[in-house]
Amino acid sequence: MDSVLNFSGGWQPSVAAAGLDVLNPATGEALARAPIGDTADVARIVAAASVAFPAWRRTPPQERIQYLFKLRALLTANLDDVARTIVLENDKTLGEAKAELARGLENIEVACGIPTLMQGYNLEDVAAGIDEIMIRQPLGVVTAITPFNFPGMIPLWFLPYAIACGNTLVVKPSERVPLTMQKLFALIEQTGIPKGVCNLVNGGKPVVDALLDHPDIRVISFVGSSAIAKYVYTRGPAAGKRVQCQGGAKKHVVVMPDADLPMTTKIVSDSAFGCAGQRYLAVSVAVTVGDAHAPFRDAITETAAALKVGSGLDPASQMGPVITAASKARIGTCIDRSLADGARSTPDGGTAAAAASTGYFLGPTILDNGRADSEMARTEFFGPVLTLVQARDLDDAIAMIAANPYGNAASIFTTNGPAARRFRYEIPAGNVGVNIGVAAPMAYFPFSGWKDSFLGVLHGQGRDAAEF
Ligand code: NAD
Repeated sequence: MDSVLNFSGGWQPSVAAAGLDVLNPATGEALARAPIGDTADVARIVAAASVAFPAWRRTPPQERIQYLFKLRALLTANLDDVARTIVLENDKTLGEAKAELARGLENIEVACGIPTLMQGYNLEDVAAGIDEIMIRQPLGVVTAITPFNFPGMIPLWFLPYAIACGNTLVVKPSERVPLTMQKLFALIEQTGIPKGVCNLVNGGKPVVDALLDHPDIRVISFVGSSAIAKYVYTRGPAAGKRVQCQGGAKKHVVVMPDADLPMTTKIVSDSAFGCAGQRYLAVSVAVTVGDAHAPFRDAITETAAALKVGSGLDPASQMGPVITAASKARIGTCIDRSLADGARSTPDGGTAAAAASTGYFLGPTILDNGRADSEMARTEFFGPVLTLVQARDLDDAIAMIAANPYGNAASIFTTNGPAARRFRYEIPAGNVGVNIGVAAPMAYFPFSGWKDSFLGVLHGQGRDAAEF
């Protein structure tokens, strides 16, 4: 079985003997062996990144971005191959894998504008005969620590900006899906970028802790669960680092009685069950207002029941498995607790649908009759589960969403302009959609999570990324 390697101008194995199997979630088959990692791996790679920094910083921005143009061309030419690797280790559908790489490419394109994005500003005569100039400078060695659910896109939220700005970078992907970065770094190697500028270190907690503590790392960009985001946001700044952390989510949509029912049903179903609900912007709770409840419940139940669940490599599949056996068991327990708490399951996806499969499949599950303050409406399940909660009116719906600890995103489905405008104005979420299921910002806008979904000041992507 292949071993997952680290990269720093060349490929190298981890010094750690311990590792874990990278599993195909559709079959449970071991695809490769990934290291748990070690402080010594981090020390070696950060040393290479530190050595590379002074020359890279002096390389003109216009020359730095030429490597990104090359990477864009190489990734475009190899898109199918990289997307298939995402499907193998994450088992979203091939279409979903290509879509995440499209957003990754978009971030590379935006970062190619660094010669403009990075410019400072100036003013003559701040006092008589004195001019003032503000210059943005790279910081040094920076790192991106990323989660399992978008193995290709999320590292590309950070990598292009970090190196275009003149920093040297260490990427630490999720140990559950390390293979996509093996492919991407093979392409990065082909760009001819100088040794030590773009580096890859694999592993789990020991590697994250070593990165958080390493004195030569200046910046941490983290994406993952809120619990680990809080940990990183405590330990990183304590070691003097600039840190931004994107955390977990519980996305709500409001369905108004005047919503276009067929359109709403399709979009909410795609959002709730696409990527098996393992999208940080997946709809998790649908708040139906007044008379919207019964028709929406019936329509979404019918749509969910018709979804074809199967491996992402099967072109007929519309929804793949969840990432691990542990995730499947955890989500199943959440569903059971919600049923004990008074929810009704329609259809019965959580338990029955997948019992026969060797992979980590769950059927799409809708939990009707949820209370806004219940576990099912408040806790991140991160699986193909949609909870339905009823609200009296828009005020009631907004209050329910505002009471949720997360604030990554929220959407409203309505044909009423003033209701849409009010929702957009009042809802305390960072990414807001009107008749949109996955309100994911384009690469030239910041990814603006709020509350427990984001710790920091400046977000990833676009101008925020250059500022950060
Ligand atoms: P996770 O928090 O388990 O892992 C994220 C990263 O942290 C990984 O690289 C992992 O190796 C590391 N890590 C895990 N446990 C650690 C520990 N105890 N100490 C130090 N490091 C540790 O997240 P995940 O399960 O890979 O991803 C799913 C989560 O990420 C969900 O909560 C989802 O909402 C969130 N997410 C958020 C966004 C966003 O933009 N806000 C985007 C994608 C995913």
